[in-house]
Amino acid sequence: MQRIGILGGTFDPIHYGHLVIAEEARWTLGLAQIYVVPAAQQPFKQGQQRANPAQRMEMVERACAGNSALVPSDVELRRTPPSYTIDTLQDFRNRLGDSATIWFIVGGDALESLPHWHAAAEIISLARLAAVGRPGSAPDLTWLDAALPGLANSTDRVTGPQLDISSTALRRRVAAGQPIRYQVPEAVLTYIVEQRLYQT
Ligand code: ATP
Ligand code: MG
Repeated sequence: MQRIGILGGTFDPIHYGHLVIAEEARWTLGLAQIYVVPAAQQPFKQGQQRANPAQRMEMVERACAGNSALVPSDVELRRTPPSYTIDTLQDFRNRLGDSATIWFIVGGDALESLPHWHAAAEIISLARLAAVGRPGSAPDLTWLDAALPGLANSTDRVTGPQLDISSTALRRRVAAGQPIRYQVPEAVLTYIVEQRLYQT
């Protein structure tokens, strides 16, 4: 039976917080591959200069290079926005067949909001959730299961190191001239500098 993971996100930029949860999920759940799937462009947020989809994809590719378990996927960039997780899961389900088990990897903040996502009930019927901790979030599974019946039974907890890194903080740091080295892979940092990303 094939066991695969999907890590969705904006990845603006991808950072070690993302990579460490992918690795912990891989190890805990015995995943053969984890597809790293950047979402299409989100609505522009106030004052924050953001990277375009091609740039976010390039950073994902650089971050995944050298680890055959991490597979960058541009499925959401090839679809018309908005990027719905349910469409991505359906896409992978169609390609992998019914015998595969798919885990959708979520940090604590994403898990907390999941009952409000588009087609949330279908999401947890197509995939299991691999729930990882994130500093600043403390999801209450009992409450979440009341909001989305079945969620608790569809969720596997993944414990591991919790890194207090966010793309928002990284963008702010770059704009303020603060270092982000050791929070993102070196090849991602090089790209951010070369492309002058996140400078105001
Ligand atoms: P932003 O600040 O722009 O929202 P982000 O750091 O939250 O960026 P996303 O691309 O939004 O990154 O997150 C993609 C997925 O990775 C989500 O499920 C999120 O919960 C998870 N994630 C991101 N950073 C961490 C972290 N440091 N620890 C655990 N999970 C994380
Ligand atoms: Mg986020």
